[in-house]
Amino acid sequence: MVLKGFHKKYVRPIFRRVNHHKSRWFDRKDKVLILTYHRILPVQDNQSFLNMVVPFQVFQKQIQCISKQWPIISFNDLKQQQRDGKSKAPLQVLLSFDDGYYDHFEYVFPWLKEHNIPATFFVCTDAIGEKYPLWDWYLYEKLKGRFTERQIQNFIFKYKKLMASERHKKILMEFGINVYHAFEQERCMSWDEIRIMAKGGMTLGSHGCSHSSLAGTSFRISVQEIQESKIKIEENIGQKCGVFAFPYGARDDFNNTLLEVVYRAGYEGCFSNIHGYNHFLMGDRLIFNRVIMTSNTDVRYLLG
Ligand SMILES: [Zn+2]
Repeated sequence: MVLKGFHKKYVRPIFRRVNHHKSRWFDRKDKVLILTYHRILPVQDNQSFLNMVVPFQVFQKQIQCISKQWPIISFNDLKQQQRDGKSKAPLQVLLSFDDGYYDHFEYVFPWLKEHNIPATFFVCTDAIGEKYPLWDWYLYEKLKGRFTERQIQNFIFKYKKLMASERHKKILMEFGINVYHAFEQERCMSWDEIRIMAKGGMTLGSHGCSHSSLAGTSFRISVQEIQESKIKIEENIGQKCGVFAFPYGARDDFNNTLLEVVYRAGYEGCFSNIHGYNHFLMGDRLIFNRVIMTSNTDVRYLLG
């Protein structure tokens, strides 16, 4: 047990770093690094559920450190460079923010705009303009005193594969929690706020409608979420919605058939949460890797 802990704490990180530098050394093609943030809040505490909250001050420091070394570009910049077949730097960075929380409008957007930094915000259309957060955050907030983080994570893994109406009923039955009950301090953005961000030069992408794992729900519902969320966003912001991010984004949250649905729906890019860099000259209809950012991420290490 002690040895296992020692291995996890000391040996594994060393191997990870060696592998990281080895792959950078042998692989000198131009790269694109896409970062995933979730919530950014003006808190001091670094501890949060699954490390999903990055304190605003830490976030600012991370971005300042990145932008001193490499260009931070928009998704459109990347597509344009890929069309031209010409990368503008050995490493370019894209910022993305998942889930569409109000803190993206309140803290992230004004700060990025002030520093002229572009970013992509992935929103879930069912929660836009509503008085509650996404169902998983709601569940966590209401259960955090009663269960451990691991237990709550397991509940979320179980429920993410259900369609929204079924999930709502089961959570109500199992915990007596109505995930559509008002919980305004944790709400997502409104269409007005999203429009202001789109007009301010930010890219708005789709994260589906109901924040479900699309490989787990029925194929018909998943196709609907991919197509309808795009139409809804375009109607509301008056601009093309050209990029999709699979909710949860791990290998078992999507598959090649769904990826094909994404590109057939007219998206020009699709983001996962599979950890890694992307080659600048990747094929046209593939999925982009991303790196999930936490308050503990060592940015200098990430940039090599
Ligand atoms: Zn998400």
